[in-house]
Amino acid sequence: MTSNEIREAFLRYFETQGHTRVASSSLIPANDPTLLFTNAGMNQFKDCFLGLDKRHYVRATSSQKCVRAGGKHNDLDNVGYTARHHTFFEMLGNFSFGDYFKQDAIRFAWEFLTSAEWLALPTDRLYVTVYATDDEAFDIWNKDIGLSADRIIRIGDNKGAPYASDNFWAMGDTGPCGPCTEIFYDHGADIAGGLPGTPEEDGDRFIEIWNNVFMQFNRTADGVLHPLPAPSVDTGMGLERISAVMQHVHSNYEIDLFQHLIKSAAQIIGIENQNQPSLRVLADHARSCSFLIADGVIPSNEGRGYVLRRIIRRAVRHGNKLGATGSFFHKMVQPLIDVMGEAYPELVNRREVVEATLLKEEEQFARTLEQGLRLLETELAQLQGNTIAGSMVFKLYDTYGFPVDLTADIARERNLQIDEAGFEAEMAQQRQRARDAGKFNIDYNSIVKVDQESVFHGYAGTDAQGNII
Ligand code: ATP
Ligand code: MG
Ligand code: MG
Ligand code: MG
Repeated sequence: MTSNEIREAFLRYFETQGHTRVASSSLIPANDPTLLFTNAGMNQFKDCFLGLDKRHYVRATSSQKCVRAGGKHNDLDNVGYTARHHTFFEMLGNFSFGDYFKQDAIRFAWEFLTSAEWLALPTDRLYVTVYATDDEAFDIWNKDIGLSADRIIRIGDNKGAPYASDNFWAMGDTGPCGPCTEIFYDHGADIAGGLPGTPEEDGDRFIEIWNNVFMQFNRTADGVLHPLPAPSVDTGMGLERISAVMQHVHSNYEIDLFQHLIKSAAQIIGIENQNQPSLRVLADHARSCSFLIADGVIPSNEGRGYVLRRIIRRAVRHGNKLGATGSFFHKMVQPLIDVMGEAYPELVNRREVVEATLLKEEEQFARTLEQGLRLLETELAQLQGNTIAGSMVFKLYDTYGFPVDLTADIARERNLQIDEAGFEAEMAQQRQRARDAGKFNIDYNSIVKVDQESVFHGYAGTDAQGNII
């Protein structure tokens, strides 16, 4: 099955189970300033779970555009390193707003994954986790579904604080919360990694494909869990991960959607060898950057726009590493439209803006990237030990427009690290200088929220829009 067919099959299955198909919401969360980007299918339904928003349906299904870069969930640094993480991915979900609960949710998930009519996955590849004390979920898996007890793993609060485990979800310190059951697929003994709950669990052998959250309690400020009168269900399955399973490949980057992007990137840059991590990074970043721009994010030096700028600059640097000459990144939009334009028409409709924005950004950064890289190489040739000095990281940042995470990315490729504390100290000095000069009135609390004037006023300088001049 192609990824497009799997997405459609999922939505159709849940429609046959009485769910209303709801379109993906924007990557810019509506009415939620606490959230950087939409990072889960449930975001657009938050108020439905809280009972503040009543819809004409109590069951919904969606394929939600998600970005996990910057903010609380940040998978940017996993890209290029794991087989299963992207900055942008699609989360397939089914939701019950005070309607069905654990029994139906588990039955639906199992039927969709294993029945011959739908995905027909071999059951001996599947494992599930339940929350340590959730006997109800354990019994449904074991007795109703018939899954043997050795395939049901209880995950407790091994992270210390009560109810802080991966298997207990909470919207915040107070509010709706509850246990999860997660479904894992075994990609085979030849791949490193262990079952959930073991020290090797962070490998790519047993991959989490689907999380089912049971919103069962309301936690009050005193930490007490009160049962919700009408418990709800929120689930999320990564389309790219289930596609990898269905297409008999191990890595998400080997699925149809990504193969097309990787091939195209290689062609655009003009290289033969398609098996290079930087190509995977480019494919990933082309998706997140294009979708973010299509949803209205503009590269800038603060907030969401700075996260976007950071991703674009990382992509440009990876292209440079592959030997790209001239601008290339905006040319990834067409191949992306080839594979995703039908499901997400905004890509087609906003194509010109997306291409023009990417082109402008990459041209702008290309001007300082080469110089910055040369400076860094000189520094690295003389480096003693394995840490790049904070003053160097700061100079690259301040003069050449290298976001800190970009320099860290280069360092990591060479088994080096950056002196973050040293960088922060340089930033603090710059703030002081700025205050002394009385020129700026800037909130420097987080790197992501850097004001544009502070970023590139070194040799290059910036204009009023933050463009390097
Ligand atoms: P992981 O433990 O692998 O990082 P997660 O527990 O953070 O995943 P959830 O928050 O439970 O993920 O999200 C639900 C589902 O979305 C996951 O089971 C997975 O299939 C998918 N998913 C989560 N993060 C990513 C990502 N960065 N890229 C692709 N798919 C993802
Ligand atoms: Mg995660
Ligand atoms: Mg997880
Ligand atoms: Mg999870």
